[in-house]
Amino acid sequence: MDTEEKGKLIDCPRCLGKGEVDKHDVIRLRRIFFWMPGPHCAFCNGLKRVEFSFASRFNADDWFITSDLSLEMYQKYIDKDPELLAQLEAHEHYITSISNLIIQYHYRLKLSKEDTRKIILDSFRSNNAELNNTITGLFEQADFFIGEF
Ligand SMILES: [Zn+2]
Repeated sequence: MDTEEKGKLIDCPRCLGKGEVDKHDVIRLRRIFFWMPGPHCAFCNGLKRVEFSFASRFNADDWFITSDLSLEMYQKYIDKDPELLAQLEAHEHYITSISNLIIQYHYRLKLSKEDTRKIILDSFRSNNAELNNTITGLFEQADFFIGEF
């Protein structure tokens, strides 16, 4: 890759050049349960365009690159810290598993939120504040995107 190619700018593939992530972007990138719309696109840093070299290293749907990320964590991630990557893979799997149970039991089988929560707590054989908060947060996100999954 020559220098000219390396610094080439393209329209941000996450926000499609708007500089902000809206509901449609979250749906298009299949990141319901991971993101909410926000006024600042973290992929292009709100600049609407990104370097081609960056967009070819990271996918637009990379869930970890968000505007709440500290500079320190961002740098660790960009440097592909193996411990961090392993934690993120586990976390993504965890969120996806809980989300799938919410979709299955609450939205498809029409069980109440309370009953769905019990099923999730049973399936994780755990009932702690963190898991309960995660479930509450995922229900809120699901309600925001209702009808999209
Ligand atoms: Zn963007």
